Amino acid sequence: MLKPIKLFPLKPITVRGSVDRIRAHKLVESVSDERGCDQGIWAYLKPGWRFEDTHIVHEDTITQVLARLKEAEPCACMDCRKARPDHQSRKEHS
Ligand SMILES: [Zn+2]
Repeated sequence: MLKPIKLFPLKPITVRGSVDRIRAHKLVESVSDERGCDQGIWAYLKPGWRFEDTHIVHEDTITQVLARLKEAEPCACMDCRKARPDHQSRKEHS
């Protein structure tokens, strides 16, 4: 007699490109997933980073957003400098 093998409960794997991968990105402040209304995905970069002339990466798919994030560059515009909490120099121990 074969006993039914007890399987570990399968966690639902969000394979269809989880937006969490973008949220977890170190340069991303927040993400707006608007694929539901064909507006793609908007990834807002953290202060101090820019992509081309904006602080937002906007693409249709998660893969594209992640690829774009690799091209993000440090930004020192006024907005970023104001927004950065570490903008004021840290006191160093002597
Ligand atoms: Zn900036």
